[in-house]
Amino acid sequence: MIVGGGHNGLVAAAYLARAGRSVLLLERREHIGGAAVSERPWAGVDARLSRYSYLVSLLPHAIVEELGLPIELRRRSVSSYTPRPDGSGLLVHSHSAPHRRWRDFYAMTSRVGQAVFPTLTEPLLSREQLRARVGDDEAWEALIERPLGETVEQWFDDDLERGIVLTDGLIGTFARADEATLRQNRCFLYHVIGNGTGMWDVPVGGMGAVTDALAATAWAAGAEQRTGVEVTGIETDGERALVTWDGGFAEADHVLANVAPAVLARLLGESPPRPEPEGAQLKLNFLLSRLPRLRDAAVDPREAFAGTFHVNESYAQLAAAYEQAESGRVPELAPCEIYCHSLTDPSILGPELRQAGAQTLTCFSLHMPARLFRANPEAAKAEAIGSTLRSLDSVLAEPIEDCLWISPSGEPCIEARTPVELEAELRMPGGNIFHRDLAWPFTDDEAEVGTWGVETAHPNVLLCGAGARRGGGVSGIPGHNAAMAVLNRVPS
Ligand SMILES: Cc1cc2nc3c(=O)[nH]c(=O)nc-3n(C[C@H](O)[C@H](O)[C@H](O)COP(=O)(O)OP(=O)(O)OC[C@H]3O[C@@H](n4cnc5c(N)ncnc54)[C@H](O)[C@@H]3O)c2cc1C
Repeated sequence: MIVGGGHNGLVAAAYLARAGRSVLLLERREHIGGAAVSERPWAGVDARLSRYSYLVSLLPHAIVEELGLPIELRRRSVSSYTPRPDGSGLLVHSHSAPHRRWRDFYAMTSRVGQAVFPTLTEPLLSREQLRARVGDDEAWEALIERPLGETVEQWFDDDLERGIVLTDGLIGTFARADEATLRQNRCFLYHVIGNGTGMWDVPVGGMGAVTDALAATAWAAGAEQRTGVEVTGIETDGERALVTWDGGFAEADHVLANVAPAVLARLLGESPPRPEPEGAQLKLNFLLSRLPRLRDAAVDPREAFAGTFHVNESYAQLAAAYEQAESGRVPELAPCEIYCHSLTDPSILGPELRQAGAQTLTCFSLHMPARLFRANPEAAKAEAIGSTLRSLDSVLAEPIEDCLWISPSGEPCIEARTPVELEAELRMPGGNIFHRDLAWPFTDDEAEVGTWGVETAHPNVLLCGAGARRGGGVSGIPGHNAAMAVLNRVPS
């Protein structure tokens, strides 16, 4: 049985059903996909947005090939654009670098990625084993042993460039650049190693196309699903497990939990793991009647918006926003990044919108921890949206609100999700988009070497979601690894 129908649950279902196992997947929402879905947020508007996750880097080509998934991941022509305070900007194309240090830095992350990425779908290595596989002590020290802030400061002199690099360590992760926990390093690592390149590609048709392809494969192989079923308890003696929900129950040899570790603990009647997970982002989706003009007239908006457009994310601005949030305030000028899906893949828009020149925009604001939204959720949300819109407007030649598409009912097409709302909607604890802080792709515990990083205290209950070691993001990796753990445990 698989508890939760996120994309990882579907990957596990597909592998297990294809291996001849009998699989039942239960999802509490009315539809599957979890945070990897396409939806039409505005009634009467034919725009199928990737509502939560939107870019793919970590889904191994090997999983796509093994499952025969008919998906297209399209490379963006522009990697990133970042306006400078003086009105100019830094445009980075996908296959070039602004200067030699930049190129050398990302050549280093790419070398590490090429060594580390293939191990993510193999049994777990120890720190020393993975370090030996990487075979580059300087890179290992820079990315894994020492706070990311030190590395960034050593490699880059420019405040803006330092900020651009650091953002990959802060996606959904509330941390200082120099934090001793190295949470920012772990987040950074997963952002630069995907398929050995760290490139973030556009799923053609939206993220729902990835989930639909996985689901079709799982159902074709015989896996069964039930949606609208919220699991309320799991009991196990290590050999057989009993899964219960409102009005029903079923028994299984194995339970694969696609839910967060904190949710699994509750279902098992155990105390949740510490520290409590906390997400740290505000997510906005827009439909625009046209792309806004930029303050930087030297760059075509169609180029700037095609890649990751960094807004007020210099190193100093990121540090200031962190300190404001740490002291309990919504950052005054939200550091955020935006990206336009429809420039690379217009297929998510209906013909009327396409003809009218409409474009989608997704925005991810950093340093918005869940704690800011607990006491007064609505007021804090309004403040966070205001801070983000001000931030965007500071680099535009016209207010973003003037460019919003208006729905047939007269509603401007903009929506936002705080971490607290994500927690309620998707059961991501604290709105943490990775279910909990990301874990290193190796273990310091000798007893864990050779496991799949999905095991729990109960031999027949396994994690198969983002909260497993080497989980997080749209990767299918923990789903694959949980299936391998089952198939290797009881040879069929
Ligand atoms: C706003 C946002 C933007 C993101 N952007 C990106 C991105 O661009 N690229 C990227 O790679 N990653 C991104 N991520 C992260 C990524 O989407 C997630 O880490 C990943 O989708 C998690 O997948 P999963 O299958 O492990 O779990 P989930 O997608 O969380 O699915 C878990 C499922 O379990 C269900 N469930 C929970 N409790 C129960 C229960 N008791 N009974 C039954 N079902 C239950 C939930 O309803 C859910 O469907 C983003 C996430 C968010 C929220």
